[in-house]
Amino acid sequence: MTITTALTPEIVARPRSVERLVAGMATSDGAGVKLTRVLTQPLQRRLDPFLMLDAFGTDNPDDYIGGFPDHPHRGFETVTYMIAGRMRHRDSAGHEGLLQNGGVQWMTAGRGIVHSELPEQEAGRMEGFQLWLNLPAKDKMTAPWYRDIQSDTLPQFATPDGVTARVIAGSSHGVDGAVQRDATQPLYLDLHFDAGASFAQAMPAESNAFVYVYRGELQIGDTAVPAQRMAILANAPDRDGVVLRAAGPARALLIAGQPLNEPIAQYGPFVMNTQQEIVQTLQDFQSGRF
Ligand code: MN
Repeated sequence: MTITTALTPEIVARPRSVERLVAGMATSDGAGVKLTRVLTQPLQRRLDPFLMLDAFGTDNPDDYIGGFPDHPHRGFETVTYMIAGRMRHRDSAGHEGLLQNGGVQWMTAGRGIVHSELPEQEAGRMEGFQLWLNLPAKDKMTAPWYRDIQSDTLPQFATPDGVTARVIAGSSHGVDGAVQRDATQPLYLDLHFDAGASFAQAMPAESNAFVYVYRGELQIGDTAVPAQRMAILANAPDRDGVVLRAAGPARALLIAGQPLNEPIAQYGPFVMNTQQEIVQTLQDFQSGRF
């Protein structure tokens, strides 16, 4: 869904710098799906309210064919963004959906869901991302919810500077994204840069933010950010946003959110606030209460 009304320019007078670059860790999950864990557990505090970012991208079916058979989640939200490929989702609440080429699935696990995420292709490219967004303590036991957002209904706009922005969450240049969240105020943009383009985004100083470049290279302040790197943006009280520049064609995710500043207790696919809640979660799951 391309927005053609006038855009509201983002005013950024004092852009953030890059605090550090992160390469992520090659790993596998589910039934042998190869992926790069970009946002790993040691970064959960620093990038609160985000808990994980996985990037996957391969032309080899052996790397993805096993998919993610039935597994549970509780206490947070998963946002799956497919760049290429087809993935079928089924869950214990009876929902089913097909996630494909440019589409997004936003799932709120809340008090508990069991689901599978399985490739619906035996050849060809599979590429995308899964982001985990925490829920505030008061919402961790909310009813499970999910929404499939097909590519052609995802809000997007083009700037005069040569950037196409797809707005998955939050808002940019006056364009509201597909999903809004009060507690964590997530901003999730997929940005496609023409050669020589730049993109400004205002954001609150206290928000935690990062950029993941997945094609080409970006310049953020003095720092060159190559492909397959996450740039963590520095927080400082006087900084009002970020400016991204691309010398050549590039594509990147820009993700930001308000920290919850609550304790994080994670055991695999369960993210609660205390160890006691994790013990309760395991008992609930084992006794079939998901
Ligand atoms: Mn899952």
